[in-house]
Amino acid sequence: MRFDTVPKPPAVAARPRDDRGYPVPAITPWEDGRPQFALTDYERSAACARERLCSVCNTLMPRGPVWRVVGGTEAVAIGEALAAGRPYRNMAPTTEGPGHRACMLYASMVCPYLARSNARRRVTAVQGDTPDGLTAHVVRGAARGDAGAVVGFAEYEFGITPTKVLFRFLDPVEWLPHDDADEQLPNLRAELDRIAQR
Ligand SMILES: [Zn+2]
Repeated sequence: MRFDTVPKPPAVAARPRDDRGYPVPAITPWEDGRPQFALTDYERSAACARERLCSVCNTLMPRGPVWRVVGGTEAVAIGEALAAGRPYRNMAPTTEGPGHRACMLYASMVCPYLARSNARRRVTAVQGDTPDGLTAHVVRGAARGDAGAVVGFAEYEFGITPTKVLFRFLDPVEWLPHDDADEQLPNLRAELDRIAQR
């Protein structure tokens, strides 16, 4: 799907745009009037962590689960843990902050940097034992470099060091895998309907 045909959550529609019309996430730094999508701004990221702001739209995340987009390898690991009934704890901290469910569904479909990180991870994602049914399609998608999942976590922790802001995500409570991010469209539409009815 073209990015400008993906429906936007209201708070995302209110974000500034780049020259092509891409909404600029809250944690993206600007240099000379241009958003640097591949980078994460330290101060903006620290503010999101401290104030429980969504890393995409910069508005408050209510108490309860938070969401993020995970790439191929991590998506497979989480899916396998959930299928086996094992607790999953992402022991490796990440600089990618949490967000609203709608914002992360949207980001999974339009953010080329998430797609790129999936591509980097794909080699290890297809190694190992034959996956179970739950994760098999994620592994197939990972082989093409476009698989991932939008995952809800019960809680997150953060640490602010002098140079970076690191997040750790605890206890997955929702698991929305995709072979191709366009498959998230029905989930995004349903979530936007739900928001509109509040
Ligand atoms: Zn948001």
